[in-house]
Amino acid sequence: SDKLRLGFSKTSSRLTGNLAGILGAGRLTDAALDDIEDALIVSDLGPSTAARIREKLATEKFDRDVTEEDIRAVVEREIAAILGEVAEPLEIDAFPRPQVILVIGVNGSGKTTTIAKLAHLFQEEDYGVMLAAGDTFRAAAIGQLKIWAERLNVPIVTGPEGGDAASIVFDAVKQATETGIDVLIVDTAGRLQNKRELMDELAKVRRVLGRLNPAAPHDVVLVLDATNGQNALSQIETFKEVAGVSGLIMTKLDGTARGGVLVAAAEKFQLPIHAIGVGEQMDDLRPFDPGFLAKILA
Ligand code: GDP
Repeated sequence: SDKLRLGFSKTSSRLTGNLAGILGAGRLTDAALDDIEDALIVSDLGPSTAARIREKLATEKFDRDVTEEDIRAVVEREIAAILGEVAEPLEIDAFPRPQVILVIGVNGSGKTTTIAKLAHLFQEEDYGVMLAAGDTFRAAAIGQLKIWAERLNVPIVTGPEGGDAASIVFDAVKQATETGIDVLIVDTAGRLQNKRELMDELAKVRRVLGRLNPAAPHDVVLVLDATNGQNALSQIETFKEVAGVSGLIMTKLDGTARGGVLVAAAEKFQLPIHAIGVGEQMDDLRPFDPGFLAKILA
């Protein structure tokens, strides 16, 4: 949790820094409320979170003398409430096994690393894990996932570069079923530049999975890079349309000042947030803990 606290320190000092100047005034006037709302927006929390917090402050504290502490307490409470609605760890509860988790996201978002982190987490929980290298478009992605599989000592199903992702997924589900695997984590292509092709490819993967098990994929997890700030939000929009999304994992929350986007995403989309990434190693995935996050943010 030290890494988490450290990771959010830039976001937090940006937020408190943006709020600090305003609150010297004392009385919470309309003008001060406007300034607070603006400060929350420029801290990446998003317009709707900012409006919600403004509204709370107006009803509870309007035209009273308030301290910086008072304001921050309300900000913390509201952030905790927003995050609390979406905190949802990935549970392995699918029967028949395996549970199939499709991992989607643009290239560079941290998809491959997140797959390794999830595999590690499930291994620690004593589940049998298998990986499938469904991003056949990038040889480097296949190679990288293979390296992680070796390091984690988990089986992996791969195919040739440029091969058919759906057939790899088909083979993987068959192997996973035969060998009693609990969780199959599937990497997918992230070429958002070619939206139509990506959409067709992911639809085909889904179709093949559905034929083997009507409940699969059980999870479609979108990986987002927090350093993209507000662009991460438009990626959610696009991937909802391209692939369907059942939950989010936000990465690179170590050291960015743009961590406020986590709150914006929670408020805007109400999608479950499963975990957050705070580094490049396999144990750098953290549970999504609303109370703790709100405390270190505000
Ligand atoms: P992919 O292209 O989406 O599969 O992305 P990768 O998993 O290859 O990650 C892209 C880069 O981001 C790599 O250098 C990773 O080590 C790095 N990365 C992934 N997750 C995190 C994270 O949570 N924090 C930091 N600092 N770097 C990360």
